[in-house]
Amino acid sequence: MQIKGVEWVSWVDYPGQICTTVFYDGCNLRCPFCHNALLVWESTALPPVDQAELLKKLGERRELVPAVCISGGEPTLSSGLPDLVMNLKSLGLKIKLDTNGTRPKLLKKLLADGLLDYVAMDIKSPWDKYRQVVGTKVDVKAVQTSVKLLTTMAPAYEFRTTVVPGLLNETDLLVMGQELAGASKYVLQQFRPVKPLLDPDLEQQQPFPKEFLQAVAAKLHNYVAEIEIRG
Ligand code: SF4
Repeated sequence: MQIKGVEWVSWVDYPGQICTTVFYDGCNLRCPFCHNALLVWESTALPPVDQAELLKKLGERRELVPAVCISGGEPTLSSGLPDLVMNLKSLGLKIKLDTNGTRPKLLKKLLADGLLDYVAMDIKSPWDKYRQVVGTKVDVKAVQTSVKLLTTMAPAYEFRTTVVPGLLNETDLLVMGQELAGASKYVLQQFRPVKPLLDPDLEQQQPFPKEFLQAVAAKLHNYVAEIEIRG
């Protein structure tokens, strides 16, 4: 697993911060709606980013861009992630991690060491549909452990779900709200049928109307304090 992409300035990847976003390649899930196919398959077409150069540049720009979002792929699959996070912290940068929550052991260590300022964790579906929605075998208990870790240890966090018609419906979303009851923030992300998606059949799928997401969000307030609709 290597860093294969950098977006030097992002206004949208870290709530309330301007950040640089780095993208690890490789993922242990195969969500059909994933639009990072090249990263997921660990393509050799993408050259790795030189980490020494990356750290140097981030250090030079930290007054202007004070935060980093570590995304992917799935960053927690990389054995180099703890070192990267420590190096970024030593530069005084705020750190947000994007994760699918399948590696709770590493997540716990990073949180216990105070290395993460914000974690955004994907919740793909109700627990009993996970295997069906992520397109491969998955340890649902590990994901549930990560949910618990965030609600008890993270300084700030969000759970987020890409709402894909055909994969999720209103009942699913309300069940997910119940399963996350007591969490501080839940984000409903609008599905975007941009090409290429991991499952090309979904490229023809139209998103739910915004009014649908708004109506579901109103009901989810029964379970989670803050609901955001994104996209
Ligand atoms: S959307 Fe799914 S397949 Fe794509 S990077 Fe995230 S967890 Fe992996």
